Amino acid sequence: MNVESHINLEQDSKLLFEKSKPGKSGTPLPKRKFQNRNFGKLIPQSLQRASGARLPQLTESELIRHFINLSRKNFSVDTHFYPLGSCTMKYNPKINEDIAGLEGFSWIHPYQDISEVQGMLRILHELSTALSEITGMAEVSLQPAAGAHGELTGMMITRAYHLSRGDTKRTRVLVPDSSHGTNPASAGQCGFEVVQIPSNARGRVDLIALEAALDDRAACLMLTNPNTLGLFEDDILQICEAVHRKGALLYYDGANLNALVGNLRPGDMGFDIIHLNLHKTFSTPHGCGGPGAGPVGVSKTLIPFLPVPSIVKKDGQYGFDYNRPASIGKVKSFYGNVGVLIRAYVYIRMLGLDGLKRVSHDAVVNANYLRKKLSTIYNVPYNDFCMHEFVISTSNFDSKGLHAGDFGKRLLDYGIHAPTVHFPLIVKEALMIEPTETESKEMLDRFVDVMRQIHREANESPDILKNAPYTTPISRPDEVLAARNPVLSFRDIER
Ligand SMILES: *Cc1c(COP(=O)(O)O)cnc(C)c1O
Repeated sequence: MNVESHINLEQDSKLLFEKSKPGKSGTPLPKRKFQNRNFGKLIPQSLQRASGARLPQLTESELIRHFINLSRKNFSVDTHFYPLGSCTMKYNPKINEDIAGLEGFSWIHPYQDISEVQGMLRILHELSTALSEITGMAEVSLQPAAGAHGELTGMMITRAYHLSRGDTKRTRVLVPDSSHGTNPASAGQCGFEVVQIPSNARGRVDLIALEAALDDRAACLMLTNPNTLGLFEDDILQICEAVHRKGALLYYDGANLNALVGNLRPGDMGFDIIHLNLHKTFSTPHGCGGPGAGPVGVSKTLIPFLPVPSIVKKDGQYGFDYNRPASIGKVKSFYGNVGVLIRAYVYIRMLGLDGLKRVSHDAVVNANYLRKKLSTIYNVPYNDFCMHEFVISTSNFDSKGLHAGDFGKRLLDYGIHAPTVHFPLIVKEALMIEPTETESKEMLDRFVDVMRQIHREANESPDILKNAPYTTPISRPDEVLAARNPVLSFRDIER
């Protein structure tokens, strides 16, 4: 493979974006008719434009090619296998899109009178009831817009609960060292001190360390189950008993419910607060930060603290209930990301309970199939029956100067998205693999073949991995620069 053929990043961005030529046009807009109307009086002087907008000037066909070609440079679940652990990149059924795109939904306005939006309110009400059922929680708020937002909401509820009892000493939140980075971040953002709980040799919460940290300053334990190693916390009932005995709350990070949905409920395990990621388990699209939905469910005791408004049904009519004096208030404008909520509702209605059971069953079978096969090639540090995902380690390639990321980059050349790398932090050189239930056995077998091939390359000619990928539009961008200073659009460079 020719390393020289890497396209220079700067040149490429010019090829991609700087296509404008003065005088070209793709849209025959009608002549302005409102020349004489006195807009000058309505728009403050400071906001008036002195010269025309500097928009790209292209023909329609150039424009179409530009966007179609850009879209083809993308990796997506619709084009590639995407085993990105913890992210649950499952197929998003297109019927979800069709329904969410119906005019009655896409043109609705949040300020419309509630008598005109009864259908939408019914969907929100039924979705939150379905999620309560699925999770075993007493009530669910659909407001939070993402997983981390759900966590923050949960932390605010935790604080409000303890303060309502006059218990002001509880300033600490406990998180296992395998937790998702958003857990300590959300707790910290809410003003809690974060205390890390180590994992034991089996990759589960160390009960002795937990007991030791559970004093009268502990507000909450945030737990992901199955944890980020893909392992079920089988001491969950003991953990729950210990947390509650010490007056703390138990928070469930349910971003990935894919291993349990339909079969096991966090409410029955004893959790007090949970969040779900509809953009993971419930098949709404995600990636690159949005838009998502992170509903929060609580046990009966905590209902008064949920965000307002809740959606209620009274005398056959749906409406909003703002009358919750102990509520933490609003956490999102209006009522949540309703476009995402409709998709999740369609998904749940299409599958029904039997379908949801099948989802988690197949997700677990697929992950274990891959784990069994790959553990004959790679090192799987916690090689135990897993749930929806598992973690391999490439640390035995340290001496060849290879890191987990190099394996991930090389996968791109084979048309497979990289697994999550360097997470969870407790596994050195981690590759976290989550196949999801929507992949076929043929795809899983191909993945194993490719991983075997890459393993051979790593042993025989590690440079192949160090310089990968070779087939993508750009190879190895400066990730910090790309994140801080991205060039994503037309720059109107004077010619
Ligand atoms: C994805 C994820 C989150 C965060 O969800 P966002 O919607 O990205 O904010 C939290 N916890 C776990 C375990 C996750 O996988």
